[in-house]
Amino acid sequence: MIIRKSKSEIEGMARAGALLQETLQLVAEHVEPGVSMLELDRIADEHLASKGGIPTSKGYKGFPAALCISPNSMVVHGIPNGYRAKEGDLISLDLGVTLDGLVTDSAITVPVGEISPEAQRLLDVCQEALAAGIAEAQVGNRLSDISHAIQVVVEDSGFSVVRSLVGHGVGRSYHEDPQIPNYGPAGKGPLLAEGMTLAIEPMITAGRPEVYVHDDDWSISSVDESLAAHFEHTVAVTAEGPRILTRTLESSAAKPPTPGEKPGSATPGAGAALLR
Ligand code: MG
Repeated sequence: MIIRKSKSEIEGMARAGALLQETLQLVAEHVEPGVSMLELDRIADEHLASKGGIPTSKGYKGFPAALCISPNSMVVHGIPNGYRAKEGDLISLDLGVTLDGLVTDSAITVPVGEISPEAQRLLDVCQEALAAGIAEAQVGNRLSDISHAIQVVVEDSGFSVVRSLVGHGVGRSYHEDPQIPNYGPAGKGPLLAEGMTLAIEPMITAGRPEVYVHDDDWSISSVDESLAAHFEHTVAVTAEGPRILTRTLESSAAKPPTPGEKPGSATPGAGAALLR
């Protein structure tokens, strides 16, 4: 069952989402050659604690950290460890924040120093795919309109959608109905209605779409070791159009994105600007 949230719940989620965005931006500012994944996790954990937020992933089914940190060919669910970022890496940061009992979820992939043109294109396409998916989160559309819009952007660019990983409902808990695949024909699945809150999250690779789970039972990487990217926002379906909740409060109340508009830009060295 898809839980439709009240207007006050959506405002509460926007407050959680603003704290999430602020935290992710702070972490992104520290992504540079030499920084360890454990240090990035500590920054997120301490910032959330100082603001009364809870890192939703910590303890979730036994996950040990505040952030999921997934470098390079790792797509999602990386456990922060002693790995140190290197020039040219892509570091995916995925964060859930619970504030006053309401949950939001967002992810960005951050470049480390100078990255290859192909890696930059992967980031750009993933963000374009997210924007295209968000633009379909409209009252009266079908769920798979989101999925299809994402797939078209990714595959028209020559990249692959990871098919075994999906977006999801979010809000009263971390993972709610519905599942949101990042591929499929348009016009299928439930009708989207006011108050639905969806974590839309294209997970894409530069090579083939197959992934495998590491021995830690969490981390998931591309089988062919091709680079991966992951961008995610929590979005409310409203009468006025899609509202991105994982932004600053001022911008989350702003007009909905139009098709083709990027939710952020991932130019090298501008990690801090990704989520403003
Ligand atoms: Mg998610």
